[in-house]
Amino acid sequence: MSVVEKVRNGERIGMEDALALYELDLFTLGELADEKRRAMHGKKTYFNINRHINPTNVCKDVCKFCAYSASRKNPNPYTMPIEEIVETAQKAWEHGAKEVHIVSAHNPEAGLEWYLGMFRAIKEALPDIHVKALTAAEINFLAEEYGLSIDEVLDAMVENGVDSMPGGGAEIFDEKVRDYICKGKVTSKGWLDIHRKWHERGRKSNATMLFGHVEKREHRIDHMLRLRNLQDETGGFNCFIPLVYQRENNFLKVESFPTGQEILKTMAISRLVLDNIPHLKAYWVTATINLALIAQEYGANDLDGTIERESIQAAAGAKSAHGMPLDDFVHLIKDSGFVPVERDSLYNELKVW
Ligand code: SF4
Repeated sequence: MSVVEKVRNGERIGMEDALALYELDLFTLGELADEKRRAMHGKKTYFNINRHINPTNVCKDVCKFCAYSASRKNPNPYTMPIEEIVETAQKAWEHGAKEVHIVSAHNPEAGLEWYLGMFRAIKEALPDIHVKALTAAEINFLAEEYGLSIDEVLDAMVENGVDSMPGGGAEIFDEKVRDYICKGKVTSKGWLDIHRKWHERGRKSNATMLFGHVEKREHRIDHMLRLRNLQDETGGFNCFIPLVYQRENNFLKVESFPTGQEILKTMAISRLVLDNIPHLKAYWVTATINLALIAQEYGANDLDGTIERESIQAAAGAKSAHGMPLDDFVHLIKDSGFVPVERDSLYNELKVW
């Protein structure tokens, strides 16, 4: 049976099948992914009104691909006082944001109370805002730095007002590639265990994959399959987000970058392999808005949000990293033939625009 028939019969895709999907022409692959997307979500494209806050860039880790950390290529270290973080969240709330997405570096000088106190302070000021915060990599750092178990950190997050976890820090699970690009960061197993434990608390999270650097296609598929296995167990992932590697200002020596075709193929294959993760996000900050809009026809049904301001990808050269007015965002989705649906952080529909 051909891989196309297998997909159309609704059979599960394994490593060999997924590699065969990469060999299909872009249009056939897009059609398959679009059939799956339509069956799951019709023409709806989800987004939310959110604010990214990156409270510190001081980091004890040394990921090669990083342009954000002050100890790598960024000459301007900063750590935001909690009052400034709350004020930023407050302003975002007044502008209609319903979520703050808070991720940052592994700052050994800030103290545990700074990390946890910011969530508590945000919730005290804005009880209804959704706090999506702390990647599994940050959680692992806090546990190691302060001699806590992962369970203790997760419980403290819940107690201090974190509602859901973002999907960052996953990078690429393959141990060899991971060692090369971000040795010292949470291990692949550690990343998956932390999400498992979070899901066991009845909480939701997302999952990312950083691609387009030194990894090969099979490493991407392996990454997806490890996520699919955990999702079979817990059902706790809302969304998968393939992030396109940004090439500037870092120590990773990458000579060839993925083409638009390769990015779209990876999106489409993600949709087909991850049959149990409901949403696939084209994160326009790293994919560029134009490619993200096209990705809607290659399986993606979520375009993240208006963001307002983003520092991590911007440091690595992402040109489209500074937010987008809501009206523009909605019009772009409509003009590309899809239905913009504003959602909350857990994918409850708030408004069909
Ligand atoms: S990617 Fe994150 S953990 Fe790695 S060096 Fe940069 S800020 Fe630190």
